[in-house]
Amino acid sequence: MEILHVSAECYPVAKAGGLGDVVGALPKYLNDLGHIAKVVMPMYRTKFLYANEWDVVHKGSSNLGNWVFEFTVIKEKTNKLGFDLYLLDINGLLDREKVYGYDDDSERFTAFQICVLDWLSTWQHHPDVVHVHDHHTALIPFMIKHCYKYTSIKSIPTVLTIHNAEYQGWMNWSNSIFIPPWDMWKWGMLDWKNNINPLASGIKCADKVTTVSPSYLQELKYMSNGLEALFEYEKGKCSGILNGIDVDVWDPNTDTYLQHHFSTDEVEAGKAKNKMQLCEQFGLDFEKPLIVFIGRLVGEKGADLLPKVVADSFLYVGRRMNFLILGSGSPDVEIALTAMQPLSQYDYNVYIGYHEGLSHVMYAGADFLLMPSRVEPCGLNQMYSMRYGTVPMVRRTGGLKDTVIDFGDQGGYGICYDYASVGDICHGVWRAVELYRDHKKIQAIRRQMMNLDFSWKKSVVQYISLYEGLIA
Ligand code: ADP
Repeated sequence: MEILHVSAECYPVAKAGGLGDVVGALPKYLNDLGHIAKVVMPMYRTKFLYANEWDVVHKGSSNLGNWVFEFTVIKEKTNKLGFDLYLLDINGLLDREKVYGYDDDSERFTAFQICVLDWLSTWQHHPDVVHVHDHHTALIPFMIKHCYKYTSIKSIPTVLTIHNAEYQGWMNWSNSIFIPPWDMWKWGMLDWKNNINPLASGIKCADKVTTVSPSYLQELKYMSNGLEALFEYEKGKCSGILNGIDVDVWDPNTDTYLQHHFSTDEVEAGKAKNKMQLCEQFGLDFEKPLIVFIGRLVGEKGADLLPKVVADSFLYVGRRMNFLILGSGSPDVEIALTAMQPLSQYDYNVYIGYHEGLSHVMYAGADFLLMPSRVEPCGLNQMYSMRYGTVPMVRRTGGLKDTVIDFGDQGGYGICYDYASVGDICHGVWRAVELYRDHKKIQAIRRQMMNLDFSWKKSVVQYISLYEGLIA
């Protein structure tokens, strides 16, 4: 089978979160099983672009309303990611330093999707499936089916994977002029509550819809930022497939970001060296358990609770642990976390920003990883942490519920709690400190977690049978 993935992110080319990790890994694992998976994404100005060599494979021109522009598709020469990688360049529109966050993001991603389909219409053959990811590419199922320009590729089945339904890409109806001429009878396929809603349109028009964990799909029927009724209505074509992790990139024995590698047998010594590196860099106390948070500092991740969690843990559990936080996001949270730095007694620090290398050392050197998420479609951090022998402390929601079992339950290894509340999280902190004192127990848990299989092997098979069902 040939599958074309269309995405705004793909690790290591450009990543802002879990979407990048998934699109950087899933195609590789599909190829390993004998399929042909390709990725096309916007050409941003990233390190990866300048560090690699490219062939020009297509040049075309298209338009967004009255604005006519040229676009180019380039392909990475050596297939170094394990799949064909195509970047689509629209001068001035896509070639920016950041992936998102510009006022014209709607125009940027609409133009990207139009150009992908223009290019696809020129292929000598058709891929068996077009697989799109999140709202940035979710207008493609509508455009393939209902734009007159794409009649020649109308029969290609589409799959939409929802990595996060919180962001839907709403646009005013005035933006409808950007979409190439379409069958006006189908306006309802674009509309949701009097706006164009790309994610809702993707759910309506794609042949299959997947979410990145089974529990998240169930939760979306009750809480999906306004799309609850739609998820209920379309449940027949929706399924939850848990993300895997790229075990080649995320391997404590070979991780290129680590100075101190370790395998399951030497987990204690290996983690201690990485922890020491972090403690020296951030002025923390090596003797105390190290609890870290890595992620976007937004309400979805429960990041607004962190300042109070740290303060209350110090107050009620005692200064018996270190906290180290890595992330960026809401200015309020960034300011509150930074303001706590001077109060540290060698037990608290924060790094505001995005730092891939530091995140890997934190997964390796931490004792516990805190994830007090309000919403967690799948969550990759908890799986990375377990692969590096770090105990996850998670709220039972979405993919966290599907991947972590509390160590108090049979066969369990993590710390789980039900509410994203300061009290519940602090109780988890107390349990972590107590677990850390029980050397035998935590050592056994570390080994147990490192032997769990969170690789793509299981999930990729589910995607393949989904694709096969569409072709049949
Ligand atoms: P989401 O996509 O919702 O942000 P995921 O758990 O699916 O959450 O994926 C988060 C990914 O982004 C992980 O690989 C995590 O390590 C990484 N990440 C998030 N914030 C940062 C940061 N500030 N620095 C480095 N890596 C980060």
